[in-house]
Amino acid sequence: MENMYCLRCNRELGTGHKSVAIYLFAQTVGIKPRQKSAAQRICFCPQCSVSLAMGPPPEGALNLAAWEMMRDLVGSDPALNRAAWENLSAVLGTLPPTGTEGARLSAASGGYFEF
Ligand SMILES: [Zn+2]
Repeated sequence: MENMYCLRCNRELGTGHKSVAIYLFAQTVGIKPRQKSAAQRICFCPQCSVSLAMGPPPEGALNLAAWEMMRDLVGSDPALNRAAWENLSAVLGTLPPTGTEGARLSAASGGYFEF
């Protein structure tokens, strides 16, 4: 199976990775012969899916349609949120524990806000 990448953050989404796939294809209507384009698969990692769904509506009709689908998935069952939480918690697990290193962590987030 080919390796897919999250459209938003470019994270690799290979076999065994949890993700959300959006399939897109175009088809002619009322025109003979009926034509159908090849299907495109667009992938999002769980974190980006949840982040997009929780965020404000994007510009553009096609983006808005995708956003509404994400909201549908994220809003109807906590499984996708849980997958995002598990990924995030795995990343945080590699950072030093809070407490003694807490000052350094808040300095880092302070640095973020300076941009
Ligand atoms: Zn992503």
